[in-house]
Amino acid sequence: MSLTLVIAEHDQGQVKLASFSAAAFAAQVGAPFDLLVLGSGLAATAEALRAAGARTVLVADHAELAQPLADRYAHVIAEVARARGATLVVGAVSTFTKDVLPRAAALLDAAMVSDVIGYAGGVFRRAQYAGNALATVELEGAVKFATVRSAAFAAAAPSATPSPSPVEAVAVDAAALPKHATFVSREVKKSARPDATEARIIVSGGRALKNSEDFERLVGGLADTLGAAVGSSRALVDAGITPNSLQIGQTGKIVAPELYLAVGISGAIQHMAGMKDTKIIAAINKDAEAPIFEVADYGLVADVYEAVPELIQKLKK
Ligand SMILES: Cc1cc2nc3c(=O)[nH]c(=O)nc-3n(C[C@H](O)[C@H](O)[C@H](O)COP(=O)(O)OP(=O)(O)OC[C@H]3O[C@@H](n4cnc5c(N)ncnc54)[C@H](O)[C@@H]3O)c2cc1C
Repeated sequence: MSLTLVIAEHDQGQVKLASFSAAAFAAQVGAPFDLLVLGSGLAATAEALRAAGARTVLVADHAELAQPLADRYAHVIAEVARARGATLVVGAVSTFTKDVLPRAAALLDAAMVSDVIGYAGGVFRRAQYAGNALATVELEGAVKFATVRSAAFAAAAPSATPSPSPVEAVAVDAAALPKHATFVSREVKKSARPDATEARIIVSGGRALKNSEDFERLVGGLADTLGAAVGSSRALVDAGITPNSLQIGQTGKIVAPELYLAVGISGAIQHMAGMKDTKIIAAINKDAEAPIFEVADYGLVADVYEAVPELIQKLKK
């Protein structure tokens, strides 16, 4: 019998919305699916996942899993997949799943496909070459692993689920957990702004911004006026103006908000690979020939140093 195991993701107990997209993908596959969440002190997290439509919410709750150390998580995922007879293990595309799922797949000698955007009859569709080509992929073997792009699988509204899934604890054998990596510390930049992968609106800045003060004043200021998340092109990350966590694109975050406002971004294919599934794209650029205008629904040919302060002022009114 086929069984899909969906790996739920959370940040310090707060369920990531992308977990519901992974569940939506599993529902599309058609086989029954269980959700597995790992961590420590997970009662509220498991409760939030009961609305995802899974057969069961499996909870691996142990102090040794308090931090998402990839070797330990991969070990538990492989053990649970093996014990339950999972035929497909799925997570949403994220840095967490990039770190953990290939290791779990290797432990089970299973084939894996990433960046899945479509599925039918056992065949996966995935984006490649910065979204310029679509590949159809079939995996061999009894167990398969996949990561799916949340933008491609609309998350079911959690409140619409009529019967919440039962929660079941998974025994964690702490002595058997690999201890190659040790948690030292976690540095989180506190921000009142939403995360780009979960936001409805993203204001994203590019090389037009000359330093971090200008980025914060213009891109950050516009984002705060709109209640939006901030993003950045790789040009600014490479220049040390923005942190890596803000990068949108092929080698950054893949986002699909309702509105993406590109401020002084040229629209390189590697950047667009991360945001082209956005519903509405708006761009401000002083070069009327910038490629970003080819995908933008709304474009303003202007200097960002003049247009953005004016926009913030008008929006505040
Ligand atoms: C393997 C690989 C992976 C990559 N991955 C990523 C990725 O994940 N994300 C990413 O973003 N890039 C990525 N890149 C880099 C990508 O190719 C581009 O170099 C980068 O996106 C350019 O960033 P930008 O648009 O900010 O800068 P530029 O291309 O330099 O564009 C700056 C734009 O700002 C405009 N401008 C300048 N001043 C002003 C002003 N005052 N007012 C208005 N407009 C102004 C210019 O007209 C120009 O269009 C990758 C590259 C490679 C090779």
